[in-house]
Amino acid sequence: MRTRLVAGNWKMHGSRAENGPRLKAIAQAAPAIAGVECAVCVPFPYLAQAAEALAGSGVALGAQNVSEHEPGAWTGEVCASMLADFGCRYAIVGHSERRQHFGESDRQVAAKFGAALAHGLVPILCVGETLAEREAGRTGEVVGRQLEAVLERAGRQAFAQAVIAYEPVWAIGTGKTATPAMVQEVHALLREQVLPQTRILYGGSVKAANAAALFALPDVDGGLIGGASLVAEEFLAIARAAQRKD
Ligand code: PEP
Repeated sequence: MRTRLVAGNWKMHGSRAENGPRLKAIAQAAPAIAGVECAVCVPFPYLAQAAEALAGSGVALGAQNVSEHEPGAWTGEVCASMLADFGCRYAIVGHSERRQHFGESDRQVAAKFGAALAHGLVPILCVGETLAEREAGRTGEVVGRQLEAVLERAGRQAFAQAVIAYEPVWAIGTGKTATPAMVQEVHALLREQVLPQTRILYGGSVKAANAAALFALPDVDGGLIGGASLVAEEFLAIARAAQRKD
């Protein structure tokens, strides 16, 4: 049985003052949500604050990006061993905002994935199509290509640990959620390429109101939550919706 995972992606939001009460609320309530692993992926400067606030709660810490390089002359970068040093369990790689605004290629995302794994982090590999690609009937081809780049480099066995997040680009931060049928179709496609135990999350405007319908799908193992993860009660409600009903 795949353990459900609900991971918050705070993106570039927060301040020490705002983060404190949010982390405290999550750390207090999450342990009671049986059968669901919660994680928060915070901006780099807040890793230490989050690690301290979440200590002993069972809520995992994650980063939103990781360098593909080992320590060295890479100004401005943060490498996987540093994230491990701060107690991170997860690192998001290939988020569409990084592919779109920072030009990250499939090849670079695959290298980041490998670097994360090499240092004991669990990569959360984001894949997803743009609206134009969906409308052109290219969804399967696009997510297949994004996943294939990682499979070629790291192999299928890497997905014994690694997590995939299917995030249609057109659904991120837009309030538009993919229909359950669309989500299940892509998740089933992805599942064929990886392992039966690989966790595949859905991300894209998930909120407490639509989470249960998405998490009821057979190949959805939880969610990667952006905007809604900034409100502790909403994030916790989404995590409760991920609890298995059977
Ligand atoms: C995300 O940033 O990964 C995401 C899914 O954002 P949102 O939930 O705001 O659409």
